[in-house]
Formats: sequence, structure tokens, C-alpha cells
Amino acid sequence: MCGIIGYKGKDNVIDVLISGLKKLEYRGYDSSGIALKGKDIQIIKSVGRISDLEEKVKKTELIDTDMGIAHTRWATHGEVNEENAHPHRVGKITLVHNGIIENAKEIKDNLISKGVGFNSNTDTEVIAALIDFYYENSLEEAIAKAIDDLKGSYALAIICDDSDKLYAVRCESPLILGISDKGTFVTSDIGAILNYTNKYSLLGENEIVVIDDNGYKIVKDGKEIHREVMTSNLTDEDNDLHGYPHYMLKEIMEEPVLVDHIINKYADNLDALPDLSKYDNIHIIGCGSAYYAGMIAKNLFEEDGIRVECDVASEYRYRNIIYDDKTLVILISQSGETADTIAAMRKATEEGIDTLAIVNVDGSTIARESTYKVLIEAGREVAVATTKAYILQVLILSLLSYKMNPDNKYLKDLKKLPQQLNVLLDRTGYFKKLADQIYVRDDVFFIGRKIDYAICLEGSLKLKEVSYIHSDAYQAGELKHGTISLVEDGTVVFGIVTDDFIRDKTISNLEEAISRGAKAIYVGTEETKYEDQIIVPKVHSKLQPILVVPVLQIIAYYVAFKRGCDIDKPKNLAKSVTVE
Ligand code: GLU
Repeated sequence: MCGIIGYKGKDNVIDVLISGLKKLEYRGYDSSGIALKGKDIQIIKSVGRISDLEEKVKKTELIDTDMGIAHTRWATHGEVNEENAHPHRVGKITLVHNGIIENAKEIKDNLISKGVGFNSNTDTEVIAALIDFYYENSLEEAIAKAIDDLKGSYALAIICDDSDKLYAVRCESPLILGISDKGTFVTSDIGAILNYTNKYSLLGENEIVVIDDNGYKIVKDGKEIHREVMTSNLTDEDNDLHGYPHYMLKEIMEEPVLVDHIINKYADNLDALPDLSKYDNIHIIGCGSAYYAGMIAKNLFEEDGIRVECDVASEYRYRNIIYDDKTLVILISQSGETADTIAAMRKATEEGIDTLAIVNVDGSTIARESTYKVLIEAGREVAVATTKAYILQVLILSLLSYKMNPDNKYLKDLKKLPQQLNVLLDRTGYFKKLADQIYVRDDVFFIGRKIDYAICLEGSLKLKEVSYIHSDAYQAGELKHGTISLVEDGTVVFGIVTDDFIRDKTISNLEEAISRGAKAIYVGTEETKYEDQIIVPKVHSKLQPILVVPVLQIIAYYVAFKRGCDIDKPKNLAKSVTVE
């Protein structure tokens, strides 16, 4: 969600900033801007795409510079327009900000009463004004005083009329330091700078980074801090489409190889996964697809006789949760920076409860602060709608559940998965044919029971987020308690049926919908009479979702493609939701 890139060094600053912004685009944004520091400070902003900002930059006579900051904004305070776009400049201070300042109004009123004027409706401009207000001789001190007053989340990159240094600081929102021979970067995502460097350092909360010609120093409470320089194993290659028209399709097609990698890593080496046998009460927390991966796991762990609760992080963080000493809280988040999931983790930690992070990004807040972590190793996921990361989250959860309750059939089936996935994903002709029927519809329903319902949740979310077709998932038995009134001639109803135990029940519910005009699309493990059916190989029940969900992902992709949607960057959505 939103992105920051700042740079000081010998590389061409505009190239660093614009290429960085393009790589941050996937996170979701509505406007963007850059500020360059030379003799003066030059600010260029634009609403819409980075390509629009780039055009504007090309038409502007640029100042000589070795330092700049840039931003993609995902508006939280104030409408989407150029005034509200970042960078914001007040007095001598120019900055970009990711996050939300909860006490912005209070600070703003106070500053107004002292004669400070404002030009935008953002909470961000308040931070610039506050730093400027405190600024006398030392910018470092002014920043320290200002952040002391702030409540909420922030990643900030700051430049100042009087200084040729670049400053940055973070709290709750992500920001890392990038280090190369030619210069120093700050960015919300390592992916934005991989074409310059893969060396980085993490920044702790409220540590102020000061970047100058000689490199950087990190300071907290006036004391210098030394942080390890790490090497990311991502490369700029991960940003490449490799001939695919969209990242979403590329990332779905990567699933067999990534699944194979995780199987090779853990199938014969379960000791490398945390031992959860001492817990008998598991809470699984996530947002969006990560929550739905949790819903799959809830079914798996429950079958093993374990008490499981699965909730969305934004609810869980405010609920009155009853823990006991055998409770484990599992946090699922692709980025490891999802604000609500971080809050849920901290709530459990404060109660002395163990936590397990299932994340993609090592070094992320959730990876760092949890008791245990398992990385899903999906590589960089660029499309906003998750595909490969979801599948790998489910695979890791499935392995954890297998480790608690092993059986031979599981391992045999596990090793067949990559090949089976390859064969399934190869049926693009048929998926496109189905998409041709779906893309004209206004409503689509997905019905299933138990684990099949959990699959429906993800299938439905994928379809609606990329194609903008209204879609809902229902427990198959629940449809007739209200929603069936929406079924009319041609309404598409996906029936997901992989669980033998409730097969006949779900089929009956699909029939009820068909009797009211529905067009059924069956996805299951057994042949049926339905005209449109996708038969997936029958595997161990703990693995079945890994063969079904990719089919639903790829259908969603082709439906969105037919509708001409902006598939990798659906409107209003952000990749990594770092605000509450
Ligand atoms: N809250 C700030 C704004 O609305 C920053 C939003 C962001 O993270 O992009 O401008």
C-alpha cells in the first residue's frame, strides 16, 4: 500500500526514482510525486499513473541533483488530487509519508493556533509542519521531537532546504535502507531497488537514518546504532514478466515449481518446521486471501481433533479473546507488514501467547516479532491479487497439520502435486471457454461445504477482485436461507465438491440452484452429468485445495481479461495493506 523511494548518490536520481516508483506501482496507489534537492527543492506531482508523472517530469526543466524522494499515494486523508499528493512541503521541510497519523487533527489545530498555514487535507502535511515547527539548528532533533508527538503509523523520507542530507524514519509502516557502492536508498520494498542493489538493512521503530555523501548513520535517542547489512536473494528478474501478458498469469504459472520447491525442502525434513504438538488451541489470523488460507487450515486442524478458531485480523484485534496456556496464534500475511495482522500478533504477544508467522517476506515485522516463522518462499508477488502466495500458505499449513498427524498416503500424494498442477494449468483453452460464459454475468455464486466452502471463499474473492463481477461464496446448505432469491436465469453457480462425505448434499444444493435457472459449473474430484465440469485428481484431503484453487484463480484471470480489466492493479486495491 503506497510506496516510498528516496535516494542520495551518484546514479541518475530521476532514473532511480522513476524506476523505483514503477516497481512500487503494484502496491496500489492513486497519485504520485517526486521532490529533487539541488540548490532549491523542485516538486512534481501527478494524479493517476506513474507514466503520467514520468511525462510531466520529461517536460520539466530539472534542477541538478544528487538526492530526491518519491512517493505513490493511496489516499487515507483527503481526496485524490494534486494538492493532497505527496511530497508535502511546509516551511523548509519537504517529505513523503506512508501511513496514518491518528492525532493529525489535534496537532493541526494546535499549529494553526500558532499561525501555521496548511494547503492540503492530508495528515502528512501536518508532519511536515510539525518538523518545521521544531526545526532550529538540528533536523535530527526536530524529527525526534516531532515523532514523539505523533500517534499512528508512518514511514517518512525527509529533505530540508538547509541540508544536503536525506533523513528517514519509520513506525509500524515498512521502510528499509538500500546500500550500494554508488549511493544509499530508502524504500518500502526491496523490489524497487533491485536493479541497483540487493544489499539492505532493516530499520527499527523510530530509528532515524541520516544519509549523506559518505553513506549513512542510524540514530535513536541521540545514540548511533549499527545494523547488519543483509543480502536479498531476490533479483531484478523477479520483476520481469517473462513473456506473460500479466503478473497474475505469470504467478499462477509459477505455482507448480514453487510447490515443488517447498515439498523438496520439507517433505523428508519435517524437523525444519516448528513442532506444534504442545498446542491444542490454535487461532489462525489473516486478512483477505490469507484469512481464507486460514479457513482451509481450520478444516485441516479440526479434522485432527484440535480446537481451531479462524478470524480476520481487523476483528480479532478488538475482540475479547480467551487464551489458555496451550494456545498458539498463527499469523498469515504475504508481506508480513499487514497492519491489522501485526496488531493481532502484538495482542497475543502481550498476553504471553506463542505466535507463528507464515509470511513471504523475511525480515518483515511479523517475521521478526513472532515466536516461530515459516517462510513460504514465493519470490516476489507483483499482482495485487495473490495467487502463488496463497497456494504456498495453504501448502505450509497443510504440512504443519501433516506433521501433527502423519500418514503415508499424504507423502505419496504430496510428491505428485507439482506434476498434477502442471497438467491442470495446461487446460487454458477450456478455462477461456468458461470465462466466455462468465464475463457477461452480473452475479456469480460459489457453493461448497466445509473445506470446499473455504475453497469457495478464495475462488469468489479472486473473481470479484480482478473482474469486478459481483460474486459471493456460500456454505452450500445456506443458499436457500435467503440468497437463492438472487438466482435467476443464467446466474453462474460454481459447485465445489471434493469432500466425499458431503458430496451428495452439495450436489443437491447445486440442483436447487439449477432448478431456479442457474448455470452450474462443477469443480470436483468425481465425474458428474454437468455439461461444464472441471475434474481435478483426487488426492489426500489435506492437499485437495492446492489442486482446486489454482483452477479458480485462472478462470478469474481469464474473466478479467475478457472484461478488459486492469488485472494486476485492480481499482481501489493495494497489495500490502499497511494501514488499519
Ligand atoms: N495518510 C497519507 C495520505 O492520505 C498517506 C497515505 C499513504 O500511505 O499513501 O496522504
